[in-house]
Amino acid sequence: MTIDQYAVFGQPIKHSKSPRIHAMFAEQTDQPMSYRSQEVSAAQFQTAADTFFDQGGKGLNCTIPLKELAWQYAQQLTARACLSKAVNTLAIQPDGSILGDNTDGIGLVNDLTNNLNIQLLQQRILILGAGGATRGILGPIMEQRPAGITITNRTHSRALAIANEFAALGNLDICAFESLEQHSFDIIINATSTSLSNELPNLPTGLLASNGVCYDLAYGDQATTFVRWGLEQNAQKSVDGLGMLVEQAAEAFYVWRGVRPQTLPVIELLNSERATFQAA
Ligand code: NDP
Repeated sequence: MTIDQYAVFGQPIKHSKSPRIHAMFAEQTDQPMSYRSQEVSAAQFQTAADTFFDQGGKGLNCTIPLKELAWQYAQQLTARACLSKAVNTLAIQPDGSILGDNTDGIGLVNDLTNNLNIQLLQQRILILGAGGATRGILGPIMEQRPAGITITNRTHSRALAIANEFAALGNLDICAFESLEQHSFDIIINATSTSLSNELPNLPTGLLASNGVCYDLAYGDQATTFVRWGLEQNAQKSVDGLGMLVEQAAEAFYVWRGVRPQTLPVIELLNSERATFQAA
């Protein structure tokens, strides 16, 4: 019996946890499939994706720096992929066409609401960053009906562009980093890539409301700089994006296989392997 082939493309890709996560999902749900990682640059993407699907591949995940290219590559888009203009999941359809989806936002919302028991309804939310990840999470967060979302970004014009583009979604505004000290938020989400280089945007004390929550989309073997900042602000919870990673993978698995894997055992296993991790 031939088994269905899946892969994640990106650059860098060596340390990706996705092959392991999908292997655990496949075992748990008894799905005959394989999932590998492949180093693919932006310049190589079109050829690599064509080859993958020509050889019978069933689905791809695309990560940095390929999500926008994957959005262009897809022949059909889900509503959430259409909105975000970024695709992290490609799936071959029964008619041979390729569907593009974005499971990042639902992955974040599922981690927050189901795993961490953090509800977004009527919460004041600040998102740091205006890159691809912010584009992916805005729609699914807004569906949870927060009191409002504020975006702040180093390059102010990018925050402005996103706010204009997503204005119809709901109560969305922007704030320059320098003006943040006049505000406080119940939930602060770090969607900048600063944690990857151990940096942190300059954030004023008092920005996080009492009993507030910090969530860093980035993750690592140690608490990220933003997770540590949240703990210093006495956040009720300050966590990183490992849960989101597993949840977005579960949603991609569902798109491909029509089966929902259990995510908590996978998150617990990956968490237990992290050395001296201190997220509350
Ligand atoms: P992008 O490259 O598209 O965007 C990066 C963002 O970070 C931009 O807003 C950029 O601001 C900002 N930034 C970068 N350096 C600095 C700095 N020194 N100071 C202030 N702001 C800075 O990346 P993505 O949006 O794709 O990813 C963002 C993060 O989310 C990454 O850490 C990624 O790993 C993580 N992620 C995690 C996922 C998960 O499943 N857990 C899924 C998707 C993403 P500017 O516009 O000014 O350049």
